[in-house]
Order: sequence, then C-alpha cells, then structure tokens
Amino acid sequence: MRKSVITLAVAVTVGLGTSLGGMPAKTEAASISKLKEEQNKIHEQRSDLNSDINQANDKITNLQDQQASVKSELKRLDLAISDAATKIDEQAAKIEETKAQIATLQEETKILKERIKKRNVLLKDRARSYQDTGGMVNYLDVLMGSTSFSDFIDRANAVATIMQADQDILKQHEADKNELEEKQTQVEKELASLKKMLADLETMNKQLTAQKAEKDKLLGSLESQEHEAHEGMLDLKEQEEILAAQEISIQKTIKLEQERQAKEAAAAAAAAAAKKKAAASSNSGSSSNSSSPSAAAPQVSSGSFTRPAPGVVTSGYGGRWGSFHWGVDIAQSGNNVPIVAAADGVVSVAHYSSSYGNVVYISHSINGQVYTTVYAHMSGYQVSPGQTVSKGQRIGTMGNTGDSHGQHLHFELYKGPWAYHSAINPIGIVPI
Ligand SMILES: [Zn+2]
Repeated sequence: MRKSVITLAVAVTVGLGTSLGGMPAKTEAASISKLKEEQNKIHEQRSDLNSDINQANDKITNLQDQQASVKSELKRLDLAISDAATKIDEQAAKIEETKAQIATLQEETKILKERIKKRNVLLKDRARSYQDTGGMVNYLDVLMGSTSFSDFIDRANAVATIMQADQDILKQHEADKNELEEKQTQVEKELASLKKMLADLETMNKQLTAQKAEKDKLLGSLESQEHEAHEGMLDLKEQEEILAAQEISIQKTIKLEQERQAKEAAAAAAAAAAKKKAAASSNSGSSSNSSSPSAAAPQVSSGSFTRPAPGVVTSGYGGRWGSFHWGVDIAQSGNNVPIVAAADGVVSVAHYSSSYGNVVYISHSINGQVYTTVYAHMSGYQVSPGQTVSKGQRIGTMGNTGDSHGQHLHFELYKGPWAYHSAINPIGIVPI
C-alpha cells in the first residue's frame, strides 16, 4: 500500500516539470492551475493514507484478537502441563513405593522358600525312614514300647499328634508360600499398571509441551506481525502528518504566488503607462530610461537558492553503506552553526522525528515549480508551520539529533511536494 502512495507522489512530481516560455501571463496562470492541481493530488494522497491507516488499524485489532485467543489457549495448556507434571510425580512416587514393596516381598519369599525347602527335606527324610523300616516303624516302636494299654493310648495319641503336626507344618508352609506368591503377583500387576499410567502421562505431557511450543511460536509470529503493522502505521502516520501540513503550506504558496503575480502585473501596467506617457510627452529619452529592474525582470531559477549551511560536504546524494542516501550532509564543528532557508518559502513541518531528529520542511514555489527542502538533525529550530521564510533566513542550529552520528546538516531537495523516498540530488540546483 505504501508503494501506491509513492507511485502517486512520483506521478505528481513528474507531472510538474514546467517549462517556461511564451507569454508570461499565460505561464503564470498555468503555474497557478498546476499548483491547484497539485494540491488536489496531495488531498487524494491524504485520503489514500487515511484508508491505509484504517486498514493497518484493522489488521492490528485482528492480530490482537488472535493473540488474546492464543494466550488463553497457552494459559489452559500451562495449567494442563503443570497438572500432568504433578500426576507424573505422584505416579513416580507410587512406583517407587511399589518397587520397595516387591523387593521386601521377594526377600520374604526367598527366606520362606528356603525354610519350606529345609522342612521338605526333613519331612522327606522322615517319610523315607518310615519306608526303610517297613512303614511306620518308628511310630510302631514307640507304640510297641508301651507298658500298658493306657500307656499305649497315650503313645498312640502322641504319635498321631506328631504326625498331624508334621502335616500342619507342611500345609502351613504351602499356604504361606501361596499367599506370598499371590501377593507378589498382585504387586507386580500393580507395578505394571502404574508404569503404563506413567508412560501415558509422559506421552500426554510431551504432547502438551509440543502444543505449547507451537502456540508460543504462533504468538511470537503474531506479535512480530503486530510490531511490523505498528511500524508501518507509524511510518504512514508521520507521512500523513507531513502531507497534511504540506497541503496548508502549498495553499499559502499559491496565495503568495497570486499576490506576487498581481503585484507584478500592477508594476508592469504602471511601467507600461509610464513608458507610454514618456513617449507621448517627449521624444528624447527613448527606452534607455525604462529599465525598472523589479517589474520587467523575469523570475530566475538560478540564484533562487542559497547554501543552507556553512561547512564541508561529508556525504553526497546516492548509494551509501548498501542503502540509499536521499540527501547531502554538510558538517561544521562548533556551537551555534546557523541553518538557513535555501529559498523563499513557507514552513510546512517543524517537529521532532525519531530518524530525522529536529527537522524542518519548507515548501517553495520557484518559477511556478514547487520544491520542498528538508533540514534534519538540528539541535533546535526557530520557525513554526505556516511561517513564511525568505532565502537565507535562519531557521535553526546545526546539531546531532535523531539517527545521526556527529554534528551535521542532512539536507534534502524534492522537485514538487515532499513524498516518501523521492528526493532528488540538490547538486546543480542548490549551490552547495
Ligand atoms: Zn545525511
């Protein structure tokens, strides 16, 4: 959209190349109509800029809405991630606990199995010795050794008790062993399920983190887009300010041009009348006396401009440091170095710009051609918008404000009204 503005501005500038010739009155009338045409074109540029600014504002609002929604999504993701992290910690703690339980159970099972094994050996030995001695010899020995029936009963009971005890021990050991194994299986199952849950949580956490990174990236891109939109808009805003101010100064230039033309016409008429009167009344003088310098002298372009500042040219117009230098730099050390208007004109802008520092723009109408001069990086200025200035009149002091390295004047010349990046080389027009 900026391009269209530049194109328009260039079109205006190109359309202004006036060639003076023929009858002066006609040319001057033409120059007035051209100035008016120019004013209309500036008005059109302003409308274009306004719609560009509105578009930029809409874009910014839209980007800000998108950012707000991404931010709320990021907040939700942050909460989900911290929730997942808490659950992961809990699961990990549970797993550690379960693992400790399993280790204890394994130790207990080992000891118990060892005991069972020893018992089994013992019981087997006993059973083998029964067989070797023909069945329940040991028990029978015990029984046969009884001295009376009641002794026999006692001994039989004792044998039965011992046998039962053996059986009970064996059963108990079996039960213990089964219980332990069951417990171990159960705990291992629990561990497997915990591990699966942990893995699921970790996967979820990974997904959330990836989502968050993506949203972060999106937010970053939206923010940088907004920044760019702002920069573009600020640029346009400054342009709009300058164009608006220019409209006023060009109006005033038209008025001054009209007044000057009226004055010239009156002076020419007076001179013609005087000449006629002189010719009629006397015959001697002829034309040698009639040279009144202000009346008949045509406006000249050479001599219309003067050097805007004392000092040396440190940088000319054109390509520099891989970019384009749209003006000429003139440097002079010392305090209070004066900056003067390069030609008669009307101040359109006198303000502070982040790039140009303290800067003054002046509209000129020279020979029916509008020029604009720009004086940048001044330490201060002493003119205000709308003020009429004359060639060589002090407008400010050389300085080092804005995007500048060292005290100097950055001077720009435009053929026609100011338009972004359309300054011309002043060498050959302004005596620098
Ligand atoms: Zn410069």
